[in-house]
Amino acid sequence: MKALITGGAGFVGSHLAEALLSRGDEVYVLDDLSTGAIDNIDHLKAHPRFRYVIDTVMHEPVTAELIDRADVVFHLAAAVGVKLIVESPVNTIETNVHGTETVLKLANKKKKKVLIASTSEVYGKSTNVPFGEDADLVMGATSKGRWSYACSKAIDEFLALAYHKEKHLPVVIARLFNTVGPRQTGRYGMVIPNFVKQALLGHPITVFGDGSQSRCFTFVGDVVGALIGLVDHPGAEGQVFNIGNDREEISILELAKRVKARTKSKSEIQLIPYDEAYEAGFEDMPRRVPELSKIRGLIGYEPQVHLDEILDHVIAFFTSDKGRL
Ligand code: UDP
Repeated sequence: MKALITGGAGFVGSHLAEALLSRGDEVYVLDDLSTGAIDNIDHLKAHPRFRYVIDTVMHEPVTAELIDRADVVFHLAAAVGVKLIVESPVNTIETNVHGTETVLKLANKKKKKVLIASTSEVYGKSTNVPFGEDADLVMGATSKGRWSYACSKAIDEFLALAYHKEKHLPVVIARLFNTVGPRQTGRYGMVIPNFVKQALLGHPITVFGDGSQSRCFTFVGDVVGALIGLVDHPGAEGQVFNIGNDREEISILELAKRVKARTKSKSEIQLIPYDEAYEAGFEDMPRRVPELSKIRGLIGYEPQVHLDEILDHVIAFFTSDKGRL
């Protein structure tokens, strides 16, 4: 199979590229390096079945040519990370909406299958856990920047489903829940790389709010296997799937303690009000747990990597040369 990965120099995209190459596929990566990094794909550049182009998905001639060459498109290029989204709302909305619009329009011309990487953020501040794919999405006010990300990804989903319904484009939507692993940077706000870096450097571990909010973390290797499984399965077309890990839900305060213990760090744990961490009026979601029966039923997905193992992978990454503390 020939696969185009938009955002292929990003954290998830680069792991996906590796997995596809290792099973014999041909991989094209398109990435503008806005949040991705060339370091993430340096080790793949010499591979005979790997090609990459540094450009944005919104540059139609380039994206059209790559889609033409590919059999399937994994559309991962997006503005991600709560910190980045709060700081750059215009870029977030434009990249996420216009980027996906461009990919779907061009893929539709050649009727190429597209997987849209969406996010558990679309469930918004719903408290109806675990979140099933058909559950209501609960967004906050438009004056609160965070929700622009959820809304932009929800629009992507609507558009993809519309292409499927109206134009019979084969699309699959994957909602990723708090994906973690080596190469994820803490720069855009993600909690585990931030906590691990802080702990290793002996800096305070910054818990936002009172730390009672909880999440379920998924290892990037589990996510990549699920993305490939969904694209390979014809029964996934036209549908939305959660990808996550329902084995362990942990509060952020407990996570800080776990990171501190596993790194044997002397860092103090510091509580920081949300207003200071992000912006005034910032709203967080109290719990986020995936309902996984749909993906289990279709492709036999089962998250394999437990939180402690995930933390060890991230700690190993940040203590290696690549992690550059
Ligand atoms: N968080 C934190 N300290 C940090 C970064 C994040 O306490 O340095 C919290 C954040 O407020 C949220 C949780 O950790 O409640 C997960 O944040 P992340 O941005 O990784 O993902 P989210 O689930 O918000 O998309």
